[in-house]
Amino acid sequence: MMCVHCATPVDAVYVEYSPGNIRLSVCAKCEHTADEYVECEMMIVLIDLVLQKSKAYRHIFFNYPLLHKLSMREFVWKASLLVLLLDSCMFYYFEMAFIYSFCFVQCHMKLVVAKVALVDNFFLLTVLVVSHILLKRVAYSKTVWTDIRMALVLSSYFKLFVFAMMVWEFSPLMAFIIDMLVLSSNTVAIKVMLNTSMPIAATATAAGALVRIIMGALLKLLI
Ligand SMILES: [Zn+2]
Repeated sequence: MMCVHCATPVDAVYVEYSPGNIRLSVCAKCEHTADEYVECEMMIVLIDLVLQKSKAYRHIFFNYPLLHKLSMREFVWKASLLVLLLDSCMFYYFEMAFIYSFCFVQCHMKLVVAKVALVDNFFLLTVLVVSHILLKRVAYSKTVWTDIRMALVLSSYFKLFVFAMMVWEFSPLMAFIIDMLVLSSNTVAIKVMLNTSMPIAATATAAGALVRIIMGALLKLLI
């Protein structure tokens, strides 16, 4: 577990004296309460996530799974599949719906999903490589790959707006706004996960987004 303010490791974020009687731990470094979200409703955490507060991301990535004994690996894989589905829908609605009929897309749905998965993985790979170069880290580990995937997938919650787009009509500008919001929360999530500065996280995310645009344009030509 860690202090959500300064990312210093702590033994526990609270001490339980008796059932329902707890005292929040204080961080030895910054002297703030290590994790005040322990006592907050989930809605407060969600609001702080939308407001892009780093401490809310630290709580969700590091403390929440330990406090609630969650298997994040399983959850992240399920969330990855949901994000892939939402990206595929977005790709259809804003890239293909104007050109191809629904029947054509239905026949080629597997191809569309495979290409969106490829583009998403290139995005992930670029963020990983650029952040490692900027942080001057030499060794690559499976843990870092999983951590970055978790950060990017869980911080892509703005993509849930795609469900609303399927029901109501939105202009392509809305897709652009959602993309910007997702990239913004991706940047904060990478900053928190790698415990680095905002310029490094923003550069890695921007490089990933650039590669995704190029790959998306190339693959669109192949469909
Ligand atoms: Zn602290």
